[in-house]
Amino acid sequence: MQSLFVPHARAVLECPSGSCNPIPLPFATLPPTVKRPRWWPNETDWLYVACPDCKLVSAHVGYSVRHFGDSQSVPQADKSWLCISFRCAVESCDTPVQFHILREHIESLTTEHELREKLATGYWKGACQNGHSIATTSAQEIRFEWDRETLRGYDPNHPEWRDL
Ligand SMILES: [Zn+2]
Ligand SMILES: [Zn+2]
Repeated sequence: MQSLFVPHARAVLECPSGSCNPIPLPFATLPPTVKRPRWWPNETDWLYVACPDCKLVSAHVGYSVRHFGDSQSVPQADKSWLCISFRCAVESCDTPVQFHILREHIESLTTEHELREKLATGYWKGACQNGHSIATTSAQEIRFEWDRETLRGYDPNHPEWRDL
């Protein structure tokens, strides 16, 4: 039996470099968006994500919808979003820095060491609100959290920053 072609609609972010694949968002962010405070897109907070192709961290306040042939052809469809939070390591800056990356979902976070190494060596290209390049020190608190269903926008005034 022949099946009807139903394009797979997906909410995506576009990397500002212009030459990278669209960055797929969790399906739950497609409209109608459930309005929950602190969850992006909430029309207030920016979302910072690292492009899986060029590693550039960019800020987004809205998303696009792209249509793919099927769910298999969505780039990075097998990956999950991980949120990385820390305070800028530049002396007397201390600005909350938070961005999300796509990677294989490993519950135990056994790769935390690898992620810390990448943060310390400038693997992701981004900056804090004061323009300091992403940099961490080895002794520093860094929080890694898997995002569930949707992503949380950047909120430097959230109480969670008291613990970091
Ligand atoms: Zn890119
Ligand atoms: Zn800074």
